[in-house]
Amino acid sequence: MIPFISQLPKDEEITWITALNQALPDENIVAFSEVNPAEKKHCQLAIVANPNTELLAEFENLTWLHSVWAGVEHLMMSLANSPIDVVRLIDPTLSRAMSEAVLAWNLYLHRDMPRYAKQQKNKHWQQHQLVPASERRIGILGLGALGQASAKQLQQNGFKVMGWSRTAKKIANISSYTGNKGLAEMVAQSDILVCLLPLTPATRGMVNEELLAQLPQGSAVINFARGGIINTDELLNALNSHHLSHAVLDVFEHEPLNANSELWHHPDITILPHISAPTNLNSACKIVAKNIMSFRATGQIPKAVSKVNGY
Ligand code: NAP
Repeated sequence: MIPFISQLPKDEEITWITALNQALPDENIVAFSEVNPAEKKHCQLAIVANPNTELLAEFENLTWLHSVWAGVEHLMMSLANSPIDVVRLIDPTLSRAMSEAVLAWNLYLHRDMPRYAKQQKNKHWQQHQLVPASERRIGILGLGALGQASAKQLQQNGFKVMGWSRTAKKIANISSYTGNKGLAEMVAQSDILVCLLPLTPATRGMVNEELLAQLPQGSAVINFARGGIINTDELLNALNSHHLSHAVLDVFEHEPLNANSELWHHPDITILPHISAPTNLNSACKIVAKNIMSFRATGQIPKAVSKVNGY
């Protein structure tokens, strides 16, 4: 028996459990509420979607979790000192969805759409100079599964692409930067800065006043990773002083974004409701099934998220 533990609405949870059972016909995947105390003792693994981590303590023999989400920041923070391994979803379908979102919102900024939308409101007819894509410099924070797919997509669409990560990368036609010095170098050349880092103690609040000040005048920021990586007050200052031209925000410290948040009304902010790369049920179930079948056959837990690095 494998418990499915989530905070999803009941109907969504049933959809997941049904699809997982179809993908894993030799397993019995059931909702947390259906596992009795004796059965809990025998569960070695659980499938999770942003679960209430307090519930995990009820499974004394749990050795690993498979998340059906790619982002597992909340789990990693709660389980930092626990022996339970966390395997996250790494799914090319998700990476493709993210790279499409990154391309879409880069084009939105690159082709000055926020500016033309403001002009339309004022019935103002004015043409601005078109910057060729080859001269538009995009800096990506994070060159992991999502960052690399996005970097390649942008590069294929003619943009000049740079990426910053903890370890150096060799990707054709994409400049790789590492360390504080590399960060400063990349940021100073980024007309659009895209955040695709995980939220960890090292990245929390790192897009702050100091980093934003290093961006070129008139540049823009896209955050598709986690809200906690950006210092929102300092982002607002940078927008209000017109050092930054625009920010596209898909993720927030508290979601849904509070109705009273001033971000909703800011003329230079585009708010998205965490939609840049939703998990695809079918592809995710296939990947989870493959990993669990491999575990049953070999006893080896699939590659888990690093407790040391927090991602
Ligand atoms: P990933 O494969 O783990 O990649 C993370 C990247 O960030 C890696 O390149 C890593 O460097 C770099 N990194 C981490 N900590 C760093 C640090 N302190 N300094 C420099 N670089 C650092 O993660 P992913 O699958 O690409 O996902 C990234 C994040 O996207 C997730 O954690 C999640 O928060 C978010 N996400 C958002 C959505 C959405 O719909 N908005 C959907 C899915 C995921 P190395 O390569 O050197 O390790």
